[in-house]
Amino acid sequence: MKHLAVCVTVTVSAIALTAGPAASADPSPGKRGEAARHHAPAQPASESARLARSVLNTKGITYAKAHVGGTDKMSLPRQNLVDVANGRLARTSSWGHKKGARVALDTRMLNGVLKLNTQYHYKFEISELVGGEHSRTSKHYEGRAVDVTWINGRHVGKNADHRGLMKACRKLGARLVLGPGDKNHSTHVHCQW
Ligand SMILES: [Zn+2]
Repeated sequence: MKHLAVCVTVTVSAIALTAGPAASADPSPGKRGEAARHHAPAQPASESARLARSVLNTKGITYAKAHVGGTDKMSLPRQNLVDVANGRLARTSSWGHKKGARVALDTRMLNGVLKLNTQYHYKFEISELVGGEHSRTSKHYEGRAVDVTWINGRHVGKNADHRGLMKACRKLGARLVLGPGDKNHSTHVHCQW
């Protein structure tokens, strides 16, 4: 009986070995899921990519289609988000202090922009993220600032609720918030994280 038991053990092991390749050829749903992930072309999305995609998918957030001071479609705010959503870096404009650079978008800034709509329910237009021309040491060039020109259908400086949006930026963690009444900000709000 003891000898037979050994034989049975060997036989079971042999079945287990041959079952390996067979299992791979006809995978369970779980195995198929692993295979799909393995062959997926994109890397798992980073937090900034995930947030950039969420902002792009938010209907209440719109984007300027041109810069003030130059033409460069690759550095428009929507393109900045598309690049980051696709795992690339955002491009600065070909003029200004940081010409043609590639920079990351800060997750705190992206989270703030998203929640201005999803939490505070503002509909607004972004005029610049890292593109355009700003002061030499501007945090725009570090992907940490957003400029807003339209709020709920009204232009900043022309009866838009800039105070409300500025307050929301501060509550969402912005460290520097500028708007009408501040030098060079009579027609846009600047929120910086
Ligand atoms: Zn700004």
